[in-house]
Amino acid sequence: MHIASVVVSKFCFLFSLAFCGLLLLLIPALQPPARQVDLPQPKPQMRATQAGPSHHTRVPAVSIHARETDTAIGLKGSSAGQGGSIKTEVTRNDKWDVDSKRGLERWAPPGRKDGGISGFRSHDLLELKDIFIAVKTTKKYHKSRLELLIQTWVSQAKEQTYMFTDGEDKQMQMRTGANIINTNCSAAHTRQALCCKMSVEYDKFIESQKKWFCHVDDDNYVILPSLLRVLSSYHHTQDVYLGRPSLDHPIEAAERVKSDGSVSVKFWFATGGAGFCISRGLALKMSPWASLGNFISTAEKIRLPDDCTIGYIIEALLEVALTHTHLFHSHLENLQKLPPDSVLEQVTLSYGGFENRRNVVSIAGGFSLAEDPTRFKTVHCLLYPDTDWCPKLKLRKKN
Ligand code: UDP
Ligand code: MN
Repeated sequence: MHIASVVVSKFCFLFSLAFCGLLLLLIPALQPPARQVDLPQPKPQMRATQAGPSHHTRVPAVSIHARETDTAIGLKGSSAGQGGSIKTEVTRNDKWDVDSKRGLERWAPPGRKDGGISGFRSHDLLELKDIFIAVKTTKKYHKSRLELLIQTWVSQAKEQTYMFTDGEDKQMQMRTGANIINTNCSAAHTRQALCCKMSVEYDKFIESQKKWFCHVDDDNYVILPSLLRVLSSYHHTQDVYLGRPSLDHPIEAAERVKSDGSVSVKFWFATGGAGFCISRGLALKMSPWASLGNFISTAEKIRLPDDCTIGYIIEALLEVALTHTHLFHSHLENLQKLPPDSVLEQVTLSYGGFENRRNVVSIAGGFSLAEDPTRFKTVHCLLYPDTDWCPKLKLRKKN
């Protein structure tokens, strides 16, 4: 009996030893897997005040009037209204690397001459040649509008600026050496014709392999150093849609792409008249609805103009929010209200159409209002004073 109890207790002892050993072996296996090291994510340095997961909850945008095309096709709620002002926060102490021949072309963060945005390698530094700039125009405006652009800002970005028009103008092409593309789209100011041009712009950008797509109208001045500075705050592989809304609320359209049109969808769009930019990463994602003629059918489905269709594809279909910026300007706002000392910091400018010829930026320089009614030449000479046709600064006599 005694021997039996000794055997039992020894067995129990050995069994508990084996059990403990097994537990020790199992401990590492029961622990949660080690967390993967997070790779550094490039973060936008310039944020929109109202960026958020839902575009329905954003702060209203700037109060400017709806574009003619908006009202012409009767967009739901496209009337102008008063709203809070949008502020884009460029908080860094911006530093430019000056290329004396070509003007300001490269941007480097403070204290970093060739490092690019934190974590980026030097070849990530954005240069003007990385940006594809599309100018929408029409044959009747070649003389009155396009000439001025070619003479001014386009001359500083000749290689990467393309004018999308609707008629041949070999003479202008030869004389200026500008990239003028005849889209063969109709010259009418209709939704179909404008969407046709945007469709060609998109395809040419994709083909170009450039990092950024920027679209402007032929009554926009692009301040290239500012454009480069703003885009340098992002990375082209991020989803970036940057521009200025013309309304203080998102527009609403019947959803006819993802559903049968019985439900509506609300989204923001950047007005084409102030210009907008899209990163390559995002542009590639737009392809199913934008490439090779698909843009025209998408626009037809929702029955909206070109700039609204861009907003629809990005915000409603891809669920990427528009980054609102007040650095882009169309003539639908009061341009005289821009403080003169901030004009050269803006990204795009415009000038009044037929309805208000005096709606121009207030900036003083070498040209009178009569000599330079759009103020584009004055802006250009302040940015690039060495230009041969710019008035030379008068030297004050000492005695
Ligand atoms: N436009 C066009 N075809 C036309 C009329 C205008 O492609 O028949 C272009 C024009 O060149 C400009 C843009 O559409 O780039 C907007 O035209 P505009 O400035 O005349 O009108 P807005 O909509 O700004 O009042
Ligand atoms: Mn216009």
